[in-house]
Amino acid sequence: MQDYADAIANGASGEEIVALPLPESFRAAYVRREDVGMFEGMDSADKDPRESLHIGEVATPELAPDEVYMAVMASSINFNTVWTSIFEPLPTFGFLDRLGRESSWGKRHDLDYHIVGSDASGVIIKTGSAVRNWKPGDHVVAHCNYVDDQDPAAHNDSMKAANQRIWGFETNFGGLADLSIVKANQLMPKPSHLSWEEAAVNALCASTSYRMLVSNNAARMKQGDIVLIWGATGGLGGYATQLVLNGGGTPIGVVSSQDKAELLNEMGCHAVIDRKAEDFRFWSDATTQDETEWRRFGKRIRDLVGEDPDIIFEHPGRQTMGASVFAAKRGGVIVTCAATSGYMIEYDNRHLWMKLKQIVSSHFANYAEAYAMNRLIDRGQIHPILSGVFSLEETGEAALQVHKNLHEGKLGVLCLAPEEGMGITDPEKRERIGEENISRFRNHQRKLETA
Ligand code: NAP
Repeated sequence: MQDYADAIANGASGEEIVALPLPESFRAAYVRREDVGMFEGMDSADKDPRESLHIGEVATPELAPDEVYMAVMASSINFNTVWTSIFEPLPTFGFLDRLGRESSWGKRHDLDYHIVGSDASGVIIKTGSAVRNWKPGDHVVAHCNYVDDQDPAAHNDSMKAANQRIWGFETNFGGLADLSIVKANQLMPKPSHLSWEEAAVNALCASTSYRMLVSNNAARMKQGDIVLIWGATGGLGGYATQLVLNGGGTPIGVVSSQDKAELLNEMGCHAVIDRKAEDFRFWSDATTQDETEWRRFGKRIRDLVGEDPDIIFEHPGRQTMGASVFAAKRGGVIVTCAATSGYMIEYDNRHLWMKLKQIVSSHFANYAEAYAMNRLIDRGQIHPILSGVFSLEETGEAALQVHKNLHEGKLGVLCLAPEEGMGITDPEKRERIGEENISRFRNHQRKLETA
């Protein structure tokens, strides 16, 4: 793949790129089927992605007609790579087995290794025969909604298609590699003012937050809405905070340190709850929730913004859902896409039905939603939240940081990009949008490291 990296760095044309010989193998980050039982009996927190994620050469798969080969310049760590690497809640090889039974092209995915990663920025190096809108040489980002557009159910909202999958989690050949295969309907133009690693970290988390908050398919945020955001500087929350501010709402950001609280203030989010410093304990033991803590939390929100939240942006799950259902305003919406701290959820249903609240589910985003989100990034209205950059060899270390909640925002991974800061093709636009906006999380992290 080095020839592709050199050609891209030298500004080669699409014709020059497509003329290069495709390698028989490429470098990738993957888990192995033979390792599925390696952490058996251990607590989740002790399972170490550095032990299960391997970096090595894998065989180049054949290309289906509706796919492109993408030279991956950079990728990112999402929480799903953490789940895959600790084999929780299920080993992901079951997903690959099922995909393998679906079609002959699906069979390619059913291997004894699973290449992970659900984000990527890069360059198209070859297109399948049915690809119309993209060509070799195009600079792109890939979103992770992997869907068969011949399924009728995919045509109202592709997230509701029976065979909808998340690329690099429920499929093989993910983005944490030098080469990937992606369907043409996963492609979006790379924002020209961003570097490869800045462009690579957005699609999964930003699109998920967009659907949760903005789309008609979930919370339908309006101007003036008050939105409580759990993990407001995390992968989802860092985009959710920006979307609320950009859409004329008031975010209340919940975080777990003073540094993160400061970062929220810098972003323009002034209502902040430091859940650690204020010592919120919604569970008094493993099976009992403490309603007095829900009330203290609700009162804290009213003290900050004078009202109960119209929308609660939920993803921690078991630890917070009781408090979230309690704190939402009468008629409000709790929108949830995950359950990091446990998926067997308990809340007091009286607070839900008597106050006519709704719990709305959301999962990633359809192509239109992902594209709309990418457009906001391209226009400089929403910015990347890249805080740290790792090499592909360091994928396990980066996944460990996310697993242990040691990071802010998103962690990028350089694949073919030899160093940070490459791939910006419109420096004037970058200057207009402002380095302080684009690099806010990265600069904040650097400041912490030098303090
Ligand atoms: P992340 O970068 O780790 O951020 C999550 C944030 O949640 C953390 O920064 C932490 O913030 C907060 N948090 C963690 N545990 C908590 C707890 N017990 N109580 C309160 N807050 C807690 O992860 P992410 O990328 O935002 O993803 C979050 C979850 O969403 C993961 O489970 C992921 O798998 C899921 N997800 C789902 C989709 C989907 O399409 N369905 C898409 C993306 C992500 P503080 O410590 O600062 O409070």
